[in-house]
Amino acid sequence: MIKNIIAFSHQLLLESVQEGDIVIDATAGNGHDTLFLSQLVGENGSVLAFDIQAEAIAAVKLKVAEQQIRNTRIIHESHEHAVAYLNETEQIGGVIFNLGYLPGSDKSIITHGESTIKALTGMLQFLKKGGVIVLVVYHGHEGGVQEKDAILNYASKLRQQEFNVLQYGFINQRNTPPFIIAIEKK
Ligand code: SAM
Repeated sequence: MIKNIIAFSHQLLLESVQEGDIVIDATAGNGHDTLFLSQLVGENGSVLAFDIQAEAIAAVKLKVAEQQIRNTRIIHESHEHAVAYLNETEQIGGVIFNLGYLPGSDKSIITHGESTIKALTGMLQFLKKGGVIVLVVYHGHEGGVQEKDAILNYASKLRQQEFNVLQYGFINQRNTPPFIIAIEKK
């Protein structure tokens, strides 16, 4: 009955994103979330998918081409510049971040608190009412604790009048399990 972390992250987006929305995969990696978002928004919506690793970008481009997906733009760029890809009048329906490193790849290429927060600050300005930014926070690796602390500090200070901020995670699991921070615009 209780959803695991990935299932719950998708559930949050499933319930908030609408067909035709513009959504962002802030950490495209192998493209699992990119494909999920692409289905959610349908042919009238669009997905902007970011990653800084050429290897990840190539993997997602291949997946998107194989599945003949046409509503997705894959961008080799840090997510801190994501909102520069939007028009002034556009709004974001939802965002997902899967933090940390790409499994099976170079473990030294990780997300960092500073750029994650820069990205969040920009995206929150464009988030539509009822839209949700979901962060899956992995923190067991080197550098992970610093990013986790920075995000918790930032998210817990967001104005209650403007945002609902949720933390979801399992407190009896071993080996620093990931948890979710979800930010909903009221
Ligand atoms: N969601 C992915 C999937 O479905 O396979 C997994 C993402 S993996 C945990 C984290 C990814 O974030 C890595 O591919 C890494 O290259 C990327 N990354 C790290 N820093 C980034 C940044 N500043 N902007 C965009 N992507 C970044």
